[in-house]
Formats: sequence, C-alpha cells, structure tokens
Amino acid sequence: MTLAAEPLLTALAAVVGTDRVLTNPADLAPYETDWRGHFKGKALCAVLPGSTAEVAETLRLCAQAGVAVVPQGGRTGLVGGGVPNDAGTAVVLNLARMNKVRSLDAMAMTIAVDAGITLAAARQHAATAQLNLPILIGSEGSAQIGGVIGTNAGGSNVLRYGMTRNLVMGLEVVLPDGRIWNGMRALTKDNTGYALRHLFIGSEGTLGIVTGAVLQLVPEPQRTTTAFCPVVDISSALSLLDSLRRAHFDALVAFEYISAATVALIAKYRPELASTLSVTTETGDCLLIEFAHMRASEEADAAIEADLGIAFENGWLTDALIASSETQRKAMWAFREAISFAQNDAGYSVKNDVSVPVARIPDLLSEATTAVAAVTPLAQPICYGHLGDGNIHFNFSPATPEVSGELRALEPAIVAALNSVVQSLDGSFSAEHGIGQAKVETLAKFRAGMELELMRAIKTLLDPDNRMNPGKVV
Ligand SMILES: Cc1cc2nc3c(=O)[nH]c(=O)nc-3n(C[C@H](O)[C@H](O)[C@H](O)COP(=O)(O)OP(=O)(O)OC[C@H]3O[C@@H](n4cnc5c(N)ncnc54)[C@H](O)[C@@H]3O)c2cc1C
Repeated sequence: MTLAAEPLLTALAAVVGTDRVLTNPADLAPYETDWRGHFKGKALCAVLPGSTAEVAETLRLCAQAGVAVVPQGGRTGLVGGGVPNDAGTAVVLNLARMNKVRSLDAMAMTIAVDAGITLAAARQHAATAQLNLPILIGSEGSAQIGGVIGTNAGGSNVLRYGMTRNLVMGLEVVLPDGRIWNGMRALTKDNTGYALRHLFIGSEGTLGIVTGAVLQLVPEPQRTTTAFCPVVDISSALSLLDSLRRAHFDALVAFEYISAATVALIAKYRPELASTLSVTTETGDCLLIEFAHMRASEEADAAIEADLGIAFENGWLTDALIASSETQRKAMWAFREAISFAQNDAGYSVKNDVSVPVARIPDLLSEATTAVAAVTPLAQPICYGHLGDGNIHFNFSPATPEVSGELRALEPAIVAALNSVVQSLDGSFSAEHGIGQAKVETLAKFRAGMELELMRAIKTLLDPDNRMNPGKVV
C-alpha cells in the first residue's frame, strides 16, 4: 500500500466500517481472483458496502482520489470481468452484503431486489408467490443479480424468455462520480426518451454500479415435459426445432444440442450418467428438449409424444425418451451438465461461446471444423449448446490427453480460425459470456469502426477518467 492510499482507506472505513475494507492479503485474496482461479490480479482493497448510499459515497471518494473501481458480484463470470488488473491500485467493490428483496408485486409479477442478492435467492423468493424468475444458469448459487445484469446472462431458458435484458424493467445505478440514478420503475410501457437501463445491462461494470433492479417474473409452470432424443444429424435437429416451435411456441423452453463427439466424451468419462439414458460412445448427436406447461394436466404430453413420433417417422430422430419421473428428468439434465467435467477429464480444452443465425448452424459446424483442422489435427471439436438461440459452445479437446500442451499453445490460432468463420456467417464471437479482460482485443477487431466508436463515446461520457473497471470491454 502506498502512503497516498492511506487517507482513502481511512475515509472508506469511515463510510462502510473498518472490517468492511479488506486489505490483509489473506482476506483480500478471494476478491482478487475468479471462481475458477483462471484470472488473478491485485487490489488496493475490497470494499463491502451495505447500502446504495454507501456505494455512492465509496464511488465519490474513489473519484476524488482518482482511484479505479472494479465492480464485483459472485465472481462466476468466465472472462475475468470482475477481477482487477495486476497494478494493486484499484478498489474492488463487492455487493454481497446488499442481498435483500425490496418488494414483490404479485399482480404485476415483478420483484425489486438489491443487486447483491444471489440469483438463486431471488428465484427462491419469487417461488414463494408461485412465480418464476426465468434465468437458468448453473452458477445461480453464487452469481449475484448485479453480475447477471452486468453480463446480460443467458442460460437454458433464453429460447422462451429471452436474455436477462428482456426481464429487467428498472434499475438503480451509482455512476462513477457517485451520483445515484433511480430508474427503479416497474412499467411495462414507458417510452420516455432513451431506455437508459439498456446501457448498463451487459456493460460489465464499465459504466456504473448496479445497486438495485426490478425484474419481470412469470407464472411458475405446473408441469414440465422433458425429452432426450438421439437425432440423425444437425439438419434434422433444426427441422425438429422448427416444427416444435410452430406447434408449442410458448411451452418450448429449452432445445439443447449435444454433438456426437460430445456424447461420446461423456459416455467415456461419465459412463454412469450415460448408462441411465442408454447412451454409448456410438449414439451420435443428441437433443435435450424441455417444455413448461401452465396446466397440470397430462394432455400436453400426448401432443408432444405424437410430434416426436412424427419426427421419428420423418427420419429426423432415431429414438426419443420422455422423462417419466423427476428423477429421470434430472438424469437428462445431469448428462447435459456433465459436459464441462468430461472435458476437464479429457485434458486442456479451448473454450468458445459463439452464435450465428439459427439456420446457419450447419455451416458453422462444418466450416469451422474444416478451418480448425487446417490449423491442427490435434483439436477435437466438442460442440454443444443452446441450439434454439443459435448459440454453440464450440470447444476443442485434445485428440489424446498427452497433446494437451500442444493444444494450449495453438489456442490463439484455433480461436482465430473459428472466429473468422463466425464473422463470415454474421455471427458473434461472444454469445453469452461477454468481453471482460479476455476478449478486449477480439472486440476491437470484430466491432471496429462505427460500433466501437459509439461504445467508446458512451464510456467517455459516463466515465471520462476511465476509472470504472479499466481494461475491460472497450
Ligand atoms: C458453472 C457456471 C455456469 C454458467 N452458466 C452460464 C450460462 O448458462 N449463461 C451465461 O450467460 N453465463 C453463465 N455463466 C457465467 C456467469 O455465471 C454469469 O456471467 C453471471 O451472470 C456472472 O455473475 P457474477 O455475480 O458472478 O458476476 P462477476 O463474475 O462477479 O462479474 C461479472 C461482470 O459483471 C460486473 N458486475 C458484477 N456486479 C456488478 C454490479 N453490481 N454492477 C455492475 N457491474 C457488475 C463485473 O464487473 C464483471 O464485469 C456460468 C458460470 C459458471 C461458473
């Protein structure tokens, strides 16, 4: 710590309390890294405010001292957005103590929360009113609403309910200079000038700190139907997606694709999960499809069964297993969620999260596989993801665990080959995970020109000294 930092630390302690300004290396360490330990940095301190007023005062003091601030939530982000750089001069601001539900309006189906509440806690509170906050991500136990909004998180139910952006009705934000913008309106209709909240959603903590949010809820489904289906090929998967969307638009909440190589990887490294679904290394491409119904009756199941039967007759599916119990449904999702773990077992993996218009997914799969094969024969494509959203986790595992080191060294060339195919298909190199510190150069390359200029102009307007999460996004 420098001498110049001491007055700031004293002033911060006067605002939030001495034990809520962490400077001791052991206390500070968790706030200097992400959940996976993938990104590491150094901070001057971590501040744990307990109210919007304390956040505002913290930002005002940091502005006065010319010190950078890194907004941080549950640290589950995958691109290092909430991790400080190595300078050791930034204040990490973590909202974990601001974890209250402010109000729930059952008639309007909205919930107002502090931004430090975890997604799981917000969802649990909504459920007490038989309502559902339909953001479904594996990190819900740690991810905070502020982080979910900061990253515009997606997840498995985007197909039906959209990204986080679609569910945010109002926001409370503290600006880099400490001013508070109260936009906590819960209005479905509000065409009063620019929709400022959308600037902050997905801005990854570079424009201000989200301290509160009003979120749209939906009725809790009374019944779900879940099916696990081996599919002939990716074109058949798209034909089925199209027919199910047309027949069951509102009810279809998840349409997940797992490529043949990915299925084989799980069958190899998690055989116990594969055997419950009668899956082997030879099964081929598979789909996990889920419907949510507002009526408890079994009628809908019959219609879905009939539609899957037609898909079988059309030659799209080779089989279809409809979950007959909650245990079986969980087994299907456990298979889907085992992918990251199976990939870890297979050695170092190159991870990507790309999207293209849905109809171009077959081109993406074939063209990117060819492009990367030209870079190296050692990279085995492991593709899966939210097919209904055009979002594929286009990962690569080593052909054998022994070549992990070579694969890691080739990562930049592999990612570049993939991204240029994605670009040629009018896609996005980051569908869900954002930019953070990991993809700043990629953003500069693929969004160069007017788009990046506008982003930088907005950043300069709100944060002229570049103190809010510097080195991230733009
Ligand atoms: C197992 C697992 C599964 C995941 N699944 C998905 C998935 O399906 N879909 C998906 O989109 N993501 C997924 N993620 C990524 C991650 O969980 C999300 O990005 C999540 O929204 C991050 O929330 P967080 O609170 O952990 O934020 P952090 O990681 O702490 O921060 C993320 C970004 O938000 C900013 N931020 C944090 N709090 C605030 C605030 N109050 N105000 C302003 N900015 C803030 C940070 O500065 C940073 O840039 C997954 C991650 C894991 C580990």
